[in-house]
Amino acid sequence: MTRYFVPVLLTVALLGACSPPAPVVLTGDAFGTTWSVRLTGLPGDTNPEGLQLQIVVALDSIDRVMSNWRSDSAIEQFNAAPAGQWIDVPAELAELVTLARTISLASDGAFDITVAPLVRAWGFGPAAQPAVPDPATLNAARARTGFGHLSVRMNPPALRKAKPGITTDLSAIAKGYAVDRIAAVLDKAGCRSYLVEIGGELRARGQHPDGRAWRAAVRRPEYGLSPEPLTVLPVTDTAVATSGDYLQQFESGGRRYSHIIDPRTGRPAGHNLASVTVLATSAAEADALATALLVLGPVDGPALARAQDLKALFVLRKPDGFEQQESPALAAWLAAQP
Ligand code: AMP
Ligand code: MG
Repeated sequence: MTRYFVPVLLTVALLGACSPPAPVVLTGDAFGTTWSVRLTGLPGDTNPEGLQLQIVVALDSIDRVMSNWRSDSAIEQFNAAPAGQWIDVPAELAELVTLARTISLASDGAFDITVAPLVRAWGFGPAAQPAVPDPATLNAARARTGFGHLSVRMNPPALRKAKPGITTDLSAIAKGYAVDRIAAVLDKAGCRSYLVEIGGELRARGQHPDGRAWRAAVRRPEYGLSPEPLTVLPVTDTAVATSGDYLQQFESGGRRYSHIIDPRTGRPAGHNLASVTVLATSAAEADALATALLVLGPVDGPALARAQDLKALFVLRKPDGFEQQESPALAAWLAAQP
């Protein structure tokens, strides 16, 4: 996962509620961003410090497997490995790559975890300067991407690249995955009501202590920091993730280029779909789907959401402001909320 998430704002800001009792709040840093957990109704014998420690241990173990920022991580060992042979990896990495493949196939290649050379070519990597690459750089990067060149198996868990230079970068799915792992820690401890958040990706169970659903504010997808939410979603027993073109981007020659790359063209997705928020059972799935739908854009994104019954909120940039479009599944879900 990439550490240049650091300055990234929370795509989904949390809305606190005013009525007591206040939830227990645990917080920390991970993956170059922050995490937080809000809890209520803890089992009597649960000690919040013990939970905090378990969460830190879980996040640390994810970092050791999935971080693109340490050469000893399982993912970086695979990235450095030669082509043509199966490289054993921890089962959770193979599982996440399998989920990434499902979403890549469903999105006709819009979601692609081998995209890192293109992300870097457009200057969004560590220590890179955002700039439009020359055609040779772009072609060289394109030659080193393509999910079709990556294989995954579960028994035993392993990855294989079909050609040299193919790498995996889970930036678009790993924060969601980590949210799920924290939720699993809380479920195991018997917590029945919580809101977990890492860098804007969320998962909620039960209710806020005020008796209503936990709530998430979807940010206005403005290029500068925008304090006001665009809208607020109830988030009981669901995960929520947002992908936005405004989070990392640069301007050149009167055009804006975002960090969301369309692997099919090798270029930043260039359309008026500014952000996509997805609700799903798991945060990993919501995270990957939000990125996939954003790449697909204002026509194919909503079409896929309709076809697959995905709960998605599309925010389009229009001359007179932002336009929100709910997928049919999201509209039905919202209508059913108390
Ligand atoms: P997210 O904020 O979850 O949408 O993830 C965005 C990050 O995922 C970017 O900063 C890139 O590192 C990476 N990325 C960009 N384009 C894609 C893509 N088409 N598929 C998968 N990951 C991508
Ligand atoms: Mg994502």
